[in-house]
Amino acid sequence: MALEEYRKKRDFFKTKEPEGKDRGKASSIFVVQKHKARTLHYDFRLEIGGVLKSWAVPKGVSTDPSVKRLAVETEDHPLEYADFEGKIPEGEYGAGTVEIWDKGTYRPIKEKPIQQSYDDGLMEFMLHGKKLEAGYALIRTQKKQWLLKRLKEV
Ligand code: MN
Repeated sequence: MALEEYRKKRDFFKTKEPEGKDRGKASSIFVVQKHKARTLHYDFRLEIGGVLKSWAVPKGVSTDPSVKRLAVETEDHPLEYADFEGKIPEGEYGAGTVEIWDKGTYRPIKEKPIQQSYDDGLMEFMLHGKKLEAGYALIRTQKKQWLLKRLKEV
């Protein structure tokens, strides 16, 4: 918590100043898994509160800030699921193949706890993956229905 004041004054999405490394648990997992089930979709998952909050994104994650993608919230998955790749057997839930499309860490853009942003239905975060290295937002539009979009760079 030593750098709390320093960080509180800065928006690291806008400034290139360093955030400092000692954020402890602040860098959490994100993963996007390409899931060839009955219908192809991408499962977008963020580590929140010790689980992977999960969304099925039929069209996948867009890197174009003008494109909003439907993201349907699904059940929480265990953190270990972020490493899962392989075949889900015929007849099982989600039968088909799962491959990791991108994986890395994310960081909330605002100082507000991500759990609170989740509860409010508006999350903004930086993804640090291999393919995705940008700010994104998830916006709840109704119940389980969210929109996933890339944030414009400032
Ligand atoms: Mn899936």
